Amino acid sequence: MVPVCLMLSSLLQNIRRRVSGFTDQAPVSEEERSRFFHYILFLILGIPCMLGFGALNLIQGERVVSLLASVCAIALVTGVFYLRHSGNSGLVYRVNALLYLCLIGYMIVIGGEHGSKSLWAYTLPPITCFLLGYREGALWASLVPAIAVLTYLLPEHFFSGVHQYPPDFQVRFLVTYSVCLVISVWLEYSRSFHYRKSQDRSHRLQLEHQNLNREIQKRTLLEQELRESARTDHLTGLLNRGAFFDLAEQERKRHKRYANPLSMAIIDVDHFKRINDIYGHPTGDAVLCAIVECCRGCIREADIFGRIGGEEFGIVMSQTVSADAKDIADRLRRGVEALSIRHGQYEISCSISIGIYTSGNTGEDLDTIYKRADSALYRAKGGGRNQVCIQTV
Ligand code: GH3
Ligand code: MG
Ligand code: MG
Repeated sequence: MVPVCLMLSSLLQNIRRRVSGFTDQAPVSEEERSRFFHYILFLILGIPCMLGFGALNLIQGERVVSLLASVCAIALVTGVFYLRHSGNSGLVYRVNALLYLCLIGYMIVIGGEHGSKSLWAYTLPPITCFLLGYREGALWASLVPAIAVLTYLLPEHFFSGVHQYPPDFQVRFLVTYSVCLVISVWLEYSRSFHYRKSQDRSHRLQLEHQNLNREIQKRTLLEQELRESARTDHLTGLLNRGAFFDLAEQERKRHKRYANPLSMAIIDVDHFKRINDIYGHPTGDAVLCAIVECCRGCIREADIFGRIGGEEFGIVMSQTVSADAKDIADRLRRGVEALSIRHGQYEISCSISIGIYTSGNTGEDLDTIYKRADSALYRAKGGGRNQVCIQTV
């Protein structure tokens, strides 16, 4: 029993997969795909039944039943190919329902042996409900009792083929058919209800998932901004003191490993306090920004440029010998000296002093390098400002 169930379930899964692939060309929804799956199941069961039934009736001389059964079989197969390309499932299912209803109706009228052909009517409600939904399916299936009642009311001599059903058969048929119809409607109703509910839930989950993803992206961006802002000097946009010395230390380690020359320049704005005192703090800020812009344009992108504090800046230049560092520093000094900074009604000129130290000794720590560059700056200030001084060991 268990292997049979497993085989059946794998067969159904296989059909479902193939149905998905088959309907890929047609613009159908998930609900339509599920109906199409039912249609394929009816087709698999229906084709052998219809053909066998048609052949049997042909032998028995029931040509009309045989013809109707063959037409139903042909319509079932044609419907599959039509559905694949058009996706107009409503038309296919309705044509099939109509043809099958004609076959069932005709069999109710002629009855067959002891009226047994009319028993095929029980197959109609599940088929119409599963293919057309519980509302329309119930409507189609309700035509069967109407046909049955009309047949029961037809007088015997109306035409020779009309079967005369005994009254107790009539009652039992109508009652059992109604039960079958109600069960089919209920099954399809609960199937579609649960299907809609699960669709709603998955839609809601999808929305929540999207919102969550958006929130994660927002927070990641915010975190990046925070990290960035913790390393940036807000006035000039340069690295702040902490970030400058962090990167400088990394560069020093590389310098130690590869024994490359490493130069550090410390820049200080001359008599900056005066600028503040004469023109005010906002103008002082504008002067600092202009000096930074000027220096930024004179150094390499790979150089580490940061604000050490107040009006003091540092530049770490990797693979730069003392003479090159001096050239760069002179360029900076001349550039700033040539600046004419406009702020409001003021036009300000200023100068900078620069101290340089180039470390060739790979054993020196960052603090020593900084102190030596600072000593050079001290000498530049002492020497009358607006100049570059180099510290040698
Ligand atoms: P020196 O030539 O010896 O360096 O003289 P100095 O006036 O530049 O040096 P001092 O250290 O006496 O003054 C530095 C001034 O820089 C004092 C401080 O108010 C000012 N300062 C520090 N940070 C800022 C800032 O962010 N904006 C402005 N506008 N001023 C600042
Ligand atoms: Mg100064
Ligand atoms: Mg200073």
